[in-house]
Amino acid sequence: MACEIKGRFAPSPTGRMHAGNIFAALMSWLIVKSQGGSIVLRIEDLDVERSKPCYVDQVQRDFELLGLTWDEGPYFQQGRNEAYAAAFERLADVAEVYPCFCTRADLHAASAPHRGEKLVYAGTCRGLSREEVAQRMAQRAPSWRVTVPEQEYAFVDLVQGAFAQNLARECGDFVVRRSDGLFAYQLAVVVDDAEQGVNCIVRGMDLLVSTPQQMFLQDVLGLGRAQYAHVPLIVGERDRRLSKRDRDAGIEELLARFKTPEAVIGHIAALAGIIERDEPCSCADLLREFRIPVFPDNVQIPWQ
Ligand code: GLU
Repeated sequence: MACEIKGRFAPSPTGRMHAGNIFAALMSWLIVKSQGGSIVLRIEDLDVERSKPCYVDQVQRDFELLGLTWDEGPYFQQGRNEAYAAAFERLADVAEVYPCFCTRADLHAASAPHRGEKLVYAGTCRGLSREEVAQRMAQRAPSWRVTVPEQEYAFVDLVQGAFAQNLARECGDFVVRRSDGLFAYQLAVVVDDAEQGVNCIVRGMDLLVSTPQQMFLQDVLGLGRAQYAHVPLIVGERDRRLSKRDRDAGIEELLARFKTPEAVIGHIAALAGIIERDEPCSCADLLREFRIPVFPDNVQIPWQ
């Protein structure tokens, strides 16, 4: 039997939707539904401080209004500490996990990334002795990093094509548990996707560089791999990625400007080249003739 395709919406409830995350969710819905798959809604409320209860509801209403339907969920990350802790323990059994006492300033001083590249952790705390660890533990709570191999993680992205990253050279040992005790996004997302059966991950281009880290975690934890599509980001002036602060691209402003949810979807779809003419259409309309478009620039789409 062919494996069922399962995708997901994974919003962080830190604000209302905007053109950028509407586009990523639309692409997820279209790519998954056009393969006969289903969608899981997972509210990524791992970061208790940044997640706001009012947006947990609001983001679901926004999806509904736009016709971005889901088949399963909502699932949440809060309350799943046991599952993340179990994965963290398993990781510590099968890989090297060690405490890191570096501050943000230490991390920046130790590496000089080029613009847009990620910081490569220099491994500063990897070789600490037991005594040094005990001494530093008494002063501050550490974050926990996993040692990565000198190995290339390669995959073929449905939108970006072939992508590869040598984890040791281009990423370095990364954080799986933060110093405030929260499990890191990279770990939680891998555990959740596996448990919820998600095997088709469509999301913004900004997470492309995280995918090799997630593949490594999937491998060492014995979890299956997924298919990926990293879609271009919609960017504002000076190529700045749209955020919840860009008022003109927020869903309230979009509804005021375009009047109906269909007109909002039509505008975003036309901007991305999914349809030729900027006219109102529903997600279901787009699905009928959907093929992944060839984006002129796979990295970004200027907001208009
Ligand atoms: N929660 C993340 C966001 O809203 C998405 C994480 C993911 O797709 O892996 O940007």
